[in-house]
Amino acid sequence: MIIVLRPDATKKQTDHLVAKIKELGLKPWISKGVERTIIGVIGEEDIIRVQPLEVFPGVEKVLAILKPYKLASRDFKKENTIVDLGSGVKVGGQRLVVMAGPCSVEKEKLLIEIAKKVKKAGATVLRGGAFKPRTSPYAFQGLGLEGLKYLAKARAETGLKVVTELMDLRDIDMVVKYADMIQVGARNMQNFNLLKEVGKTKKPILLKRGMANTVKEFLMSAEYVLSEGNFNIVLCERGIRTFEDSTRFTFDTSAIPMVKNLSHLPIIADPSHATGKWGLVGPCAKASIAAGADGLIIEVHPKPEEAFSDGEQSLLPENFAKMMGEVRKVAEAVGREI
Ligand code: PEP
Ligand code: MN
Repeated sequence: MIIVLRPDATKKQTDHLVAKIKELGLKPWISKGVERTIIGVIGEEDIIRVQPLEVFPGVEKVLAILKPYKLASRDFKKENTIVDLGSGVKVGGQRLVVMAGPCSVEKEKLLIEIAKKVKKAGATVLRGGAFKPRTSPYAFQGLGLEGLKYLAKARAETGLKVVTELMDLRDIDMVVKYADMIQVGARNMQNFNLLKEVGKTKKPILLKRGMANTVKEFLMSAEYVLSEGNFNIVLCERGIRTFEDSTRFTFDTSAIPMVKNLSHLPIIADPSHATGKWGLVGPCAKASIAAGADGLIIEVHPKPEEAFSDGEQSLLPENFAKMMGEVRKVAEAVGREI
C-alpha cells in the first residue's frame, strides 16, 4: 500500500504516521518526490487493510499497490532511481554508464592493461569475475580473494569503479570490502538468502536477470533487496533461454522499456552474455541504448582465444573502442550521453 501525503504535510505529521505504521509491525519506506512524499507500507496485507490510515493528519490518500512487487514499482516511486557508485559515476541519469572488462580476472598485469584500455574508450566501471559460476565443475572457477585484490589494484591505477560477482554468502564480507558494486549473477537471481544479505549491505547491487525468469520474477528479486533497505539496485538484461540456438541466449530487448514502465530502477544491458558472439555485441549494444537502457556491461579481452572464460563473446579492446564510438551516436539520438 502507498500513502500519499499532502504537499503541506508537516514533519511532525509524517513522523507520527511513521511511528504508527511501525507500531503495527509494518515497515514504512519513505520516498520524497519533488512535489510530495509517499510512504510505502510493507507487511501483512490483512493488517494493512483494516487500518484506517487515511484519517491521519497530513494524509491525502491511501492506495493499494496491486503489483506483487511494491518498492520496486513505479507506483511507489515515480522518479527514476539513480544509483551512485561514487567518484561521479551514477547509473540511471542522463549519462550512460559503461562497465567493461574481462569475464574472469586472470593475471594482474593483464587486468590493468585491459582496465586502462576500456577507460580510454569511455568505460567508467571495470568488470571482472573473481568467483565464477561455471557450468562445469572442472572449468576455471576464478581466483577468489587474489582476483579481488587485482581488481582493487586496477581501480587504484585507473580510478575505475569495480563490479564483481558474489556467488556465496560466505564470501560477502570479502566482496563488500573490495568491490564498489556487487554483481548477483543470472544463476543466483532467485537465491533469496543471497538477495536478503546483499540487501542488508548498502552497496550498489547489479542484479542480472535469470535466464529462465520473467520480468515479474526479476522485479520480485529486486524487491527482496529493496525490502531489506538497499535501494541501490541496477538491473541487467542479459538474455533468456528460448528455442533459438543460434545465439547463446535470446536478447530480450523489449524487457528494457518494459522494466522502465514498471519500475523506477535503472536497467543496463549485457549483450556479451546475451549473444555469446563478439560480432553481435555492438549491434545489440546499440539496440539496448535505443530501447532506453541506462548503460552496458561488455566483456573485453586482448587475447580472446586465450581467455579463461567467454573468449568467443569478448571484444578486442580496439573493437570495444569502435563500438563505443557507435554507441555514442545512438546515445545522442535518444537524448543521452556517455
Ligand atoms: C558474468 O557476468 O560473467 C556472468 C557470469 O553473467 P551471467 O550471470 O549473466 O551469466
Ligand atoms: Mn562471462
